[in-house]
Amino acid sequence: MRLSWRRSSRAEDHFESWITQQHQRRVLAGETTPSGPCPDKGFLRDLARKSKSIALSDPRIDHTANCRECMSKLLELREQNRSHRLRMAFPAAITACALIAVSVVVAWHVMGRKAPPANTSVVAQTVNLWDAGTIRGEQPGQLESVSLPDALVKVTIILPRHSEPGLYLVAITRDQNGTGVVAEGTATSVANGDQQRITTDLDLRKAKAGPYFLSTTHEQDQAAYYYPLQIK
Ligand SMILES: [Zn+2]
Repeated sequence: MRLSWRRSSRAEDHFESWITQQHQRRVLAGETTPSGPCPDKGFLRDLARKSKSIALSDPRIDHTANCRECMSKLLELREQNRSHRLRMAFPAAITACALIAVSVVVAWHVMGRKAPPANTSVVAQTVNLWDAGTIRGEQPGQLESVSLPDALVKVTIILPRHSEPGLYLVAITRDQNGTGVVAEGTATSVANGDQQRITTDLDLRKAKAGPYFLSTTHEQDQAAYYYPLQIK
């Protein structure tokens, strides 16, 4: 099966890595000379959110990339965004875990301590995205057909090559704008050789069979990566 995928905010990612790797330290040490006036805080806020409305050719980006004050503010705003996301993600994950635990306990009692019914057993699945990050541009990539059952799934995701270690938000969504969230969970990556893997529980029992998207979002990178997925 031929599936397409896309990395969102590619240009912003490029900008971010360029900043962090080559300029950040020099800028914060005041070793660079910014051109033009400091942009307003609204612009920095949009930049911190990686707004798609900002073109890389915008001279304010060049200024921010070389201005100690603007860079400090940008990093501060990004940190705020990140903690906001984590504050939003963790209660949802904890609620989801609590609901799963409650439903398992209820099912156990309802069944009079017999074995739990099939739909409360957890199905372990591995999704391999290792080669999903090697194709550039909008050209469709060849991905293994990704499918998950409509069950409680303990999914292990082998992240694409060159993925950063850290905390990830994993979501199953109806579309690739991140709306229509069917299930989500958080997981800290575990290294296995060159690979980063994350494991999280997803409750897909109420999901109707059909096409969805699997998304992964790194804690320090607001851009979500979407992969086509079938629920069967
Ligand atoms: Zn400035």
